[in-house]
Amino acid sequence: MAALAAQPAAVPVAGGTDLMCGVNAGRLRPAALIGLGRLKELRGWEYQDGHALLGACLTHARMGRPDFAVLMPGLAAAARAAGPPQVRNAGTLGGNIVTAAAAGDTLPVLAALEAGLLVSGARKGDREIPVSHLLAGRDRLRAGELLTHVRVPLLHAPQTFLKATGRTGPGRATASVAVVLDPARREVRCAVGAIASIPLRPLDAERWVASLVDWDGKRGLAPDVLTAFGEYVAMACIPDPDPERGQGGELPPAMLHLRRTVAALARRGLGRALS
Ligand SMILES: Cc1cc2nc3c(=O)[nH]c(=O)nc-3n(C[C@H](O)[C@H](O)[C@H](O)COP(=O)(O)OP(=O)(O)OC[C@H]3O[C@@H](n4cnc5c(N)ncnc54)[C@H](O)[C@@H]3O)c2cc1C
Repeated sequence: MAALAAQPAAVPVAGGTDLMCGVNAGRLRPAALIGLGRLKELRGWEYQDGHALLGACLTHARMGRPDFAVLMPGLAAAARAAGPPQVRNAGTLGGNIVTAAAAGDTLPVLAALEAGLLVSGARKGDREIPVSHLLAGRDRLRAGELLTHVRVPLLHAPQTFLKATGRTGPGRATASVAVVLDPARREVRCAVGAIASIPLRPLDAERWVASLVDWDGKRGLAPDVLTAFGEYVAMACIPDPDPERGQGGELPPAMLHLRRTVAALARRGLGRALS
């Protein structure tokens, strides 16, 4: 924090898997870099009031391990799907969030978990920002601030993350879907990634399907309900053109294909979470 306060133009670097791509491509010329790699405090997690405080420097490889997957199954699945092993060994949760790329794999999971971001600055002290506010640009990291932890609720219930890519093997998501069950609040929360600049929450579809789940008994849903949920989610995120807004015609074939992909991911994601 002191180094950042002393050099406000310096840029923090964690794994460097996003930042250094920008430097190598000539898009970024940081005046100075502040390496976060030796901050052991930010590489693990701790528990607080029914939540886990995840260090911003947790790598994707670490989050993909079984002990973390028991705690946060959705985040572990997203971390395992993020890039090739070299990238997962270096790339971090904090870097994924601050870069806020549309295809960032942890982002839909964090949106569905309604995570909070703990931010520290030498001048302004500590504060918490809802992840959705940072991703939507409603709140930003200020100069001299570091993302230190991500606060996520411990839900003790299944969570899934599924991703479609345009190639075989590791690749950027063309669409991704996170599904989180919250039995205490009797909620199903879902977020769709990669198809817009920020993860999308189909709130009506979430409420509709949560009302059909037998929370005290067998939680499974009939296949036609899962299919209807997938289509509800996909239509909410990629709606038909609206003539009243001057949009005519039909969706182009690529968008129809994307909508079918989202529907399949949402159907499978919920089915696996409830099975
Ligand atoms: C080949 C390749 C494949 C990839 N595939 C995927 C993929 O499949 N899915 C995916 O989601 N991503 C992918 N990525 C992107 C990247 O690996 C991830 O976004 C990763 O999580 C970034 O983390 P990092 O630690 O490397 O960030 P860095 O590059 O170190 O930093 C990224 C940005 O965040 C800022 N920053 C980092 N940590 C902090 C902090 N604690 N506080 C404040 N600011 C901070 C930096 O200043 C910088 O602006 C890929 C990248 C490459 C090169």
